[in-house]
Amino acid sequence: MSLTNFNLDKSSLCPLCDEQGWVRHVSLPEISSEGFLCDECYAFWLEKEKVDSPSFIQFDDFLKSRGLDTSSVELNFLDSEENEPIARKWKSFSVDEREVLPLIDEAWSKRKEALATDPRAYVVNLKKIIGTDGETCVKILVRPGTQEVIAAYPVHCSPAP
Ligand SMILES: [Zn+2]
Repeated sequence: MSLTNFNLDKSSLCPLCDEQGWVRHVSLPEISSEGFLCDECYAFWLEKEKVDSPSFIQFDDFLKSRGLDTSSVELNFLDSEENEPIARKWKSFSVDEREVLPLIDEAWSKRKEALATDPRAYVVNLKKIIGTDGETCVKILVRPGTQEVIAAYPVHCSPAP
C-alpha cells in the first residue's frame, strides 16, 4: 500500500497493535458510512475521538453487523490524495464462520518463532486454503510481550527470508 501522500503524523498510528499499523480514514460507499481502520490489525472505529485500545471493533465483525460481504467490500481511503485502488479485496477467511476460531487455535498451536522483522507477529502455514484469495497461511498478531491474540487473518505464505 502506498503511503506517499498520506499524512504520517503520530496521531495516525494504531494504539491497538502497538503503533505498527496506520489508522486510515475510510469510507464505505455501500452503506454511506465512514470510519477509521488500522491497515495492519484491522481494528475499526467509527469516530476518530474514540481511537483507543478498549473501544475498537474488528472490521470483519463490523461489516457483518451491517450485512456486508467481508470478502468484497468497497473501501475508499479518504486520507490519501494518491489514486489508491477504489475497491480492495478484503482479507477474509473462506471457511465457515464456526471454523474460524478452531482454525486460529490450530495455527496458534502450530506457531514457531515470531517473525524476525516483527516480534509480535506469527505466520503459520496450515497447508490448506483458508482465505478468500487462496491464502494458506494465517498471520497472528499478539499484544507485544504477551500471548494475547489481537488479530488473525489469512495471508499468502512467502518463503522464509
Ligand atoms: Zn492496529
